[in-house]
Amino acid sequence: MKTKPNSTKKVSVVTLGCSKNLVDSENIVTQLRHGDWNAEHEDQEDADVVIINTCGFIETAKQESIDTIIQFSKAKSEGLIENLFVTGCLSERYRKELANEIPEVDAWYGTLELPGLLEKFNIDFKHELIGERQTSTPKHFAYLKIAEGCSRACAFCAIPMMRGSHISRTIESLVEEAHKLASYGVKELILISQELTYYGLDLYKERALPKLIEALDQIEGIEWIRLHYAYPGKFPMPVFEAMAGAKHVCKYLDIPLQHVSDSILKRMKRHTKKTEVYRVIEQARAKVPGIAIRTTFLVGFPGETEADFQELLDFIVEMEFERVGVFQYSHEEGTSGYLLDDDVPAEVKVERSNRLMEVQRKISEKKNRALIGRTLKVLFDRKEGEYFVGRTEYDSPEVDNEVLVLAENNFARIGDFAQVMISDATEYDLFGDIIV
Ligand code: SF4
Repeated sequence: MKTKPNSTKKVSVVTLGCSKNLVDSENIVTQLRHGDWNAEHEDQEDADVVIINTCGFIETAKQESIDTIIQFSKAKSEGLIENLFVTGCLSERYRKELANEIPEVDAWYGTLELPGLLEKFNIDFKHELIGERQTSTPKHFAYLKIAEGCSRACAFCAIPMMRGSHISRTIESLVEEAHKLASYGVKELILISQELTYYGLDLYKERALPKLIEALDQIEGIEWIRLHYAYPGKFPMPVFEAMAGAKHVCKYLDIPLQHVSDSILKRMKRHTKKTEVYRVIEQARAKVPGIAIRTTFLVGFPGETEADFQELLDFIVEMEFERVGVFQYSHEEGTSGYLLDDDVPAEVKVERSNRLMEVQRKISEKKNRALIGRTLKVLFDRKEGEYFVGRTEYDSPEVDNEVLVLAENNFARIGDFAQVMISDATEYDLFGDIIV
């Protein structure tokens, strides 16, 4: 087994799961680097120490996390790495069981135990570094996590068990961090938390997302501000005024609705009703004309009948959302849904999620084809094969549509905006040429 002085040891941080986990990993890397550790994100080449930041949301995500831990515990047994640490949601939820099953892991940490993890590296947690985060995303966009945890208890969701109750960060600390990110070249700021619209209720005793939007909208260099993970129940409508009144907020809202059948919404403990869901979407489209709405649905929740599902399909056909994702219900112990009978067979869950995405595919294609002939502002993310690939303000990284321009006819600077004339479209991509 090879040993090196601490500062030259290479630490690789591996992230699984969502963008909130990614921000946590970026904070781990930032703290380690300030402690003179050679820490990298997602670069295992010659790593001496590996930290896995896991996801514990649903079955498939849990399995991916366990497979990754086993992969690196094997590497440790073979002497390829010296130390292996595991943190994040899966560890928060199952560390006792996992520690017995995978003894190669040196130590397990929960979601809010960064100081403890850093002790293993003989460094103290420095709170002031939270605002100095070194991001792992392409330098022109970054996620800004405005709060931790969630104070709701949706019946299918294990997140509150793993992340605790909602804790908002102050507007001042977020503005300070956003200024730093802008100074590093960030142009697109993606606001995330478990439940964005709850922001401020704990700290300011009011829903303060509109105030935060107004403050971030003043920051020089930030061209796009994007909102993710809004919640439909008791939606703070002033958010739409703030979006409409801002210079830099994308006409884009990610608002997971999960379902629309009142009986299913009730069983899911979503504390919202079909009528309220309609009102929120109508208000969004009225107050922010041209807004792209991204949403997510959950199929196969206990008790979901074919009629409930058909009601959901009819709703999707009627509302014509711009962007849709779908999850299949995962029976998660510790959630109140776990007390219900998981009575929708797995093959029916698969069939329903395929039917739903097939309905959406047609809607997405129709909407994309309607953009042919339009000129759209595009932020270019990368060059891939013969194309420069970017996104419009209606598309978030990793999850939404992309715009492709042929490199042989166009030149795009990665990280820069350009006007693109759309000449063709498929269900999930647009094609065009840069117009100068
Ligand atoms: S609001 Fe979102 S994170 Fe919170 S319990 Fe519901 S689904 Fe989970």
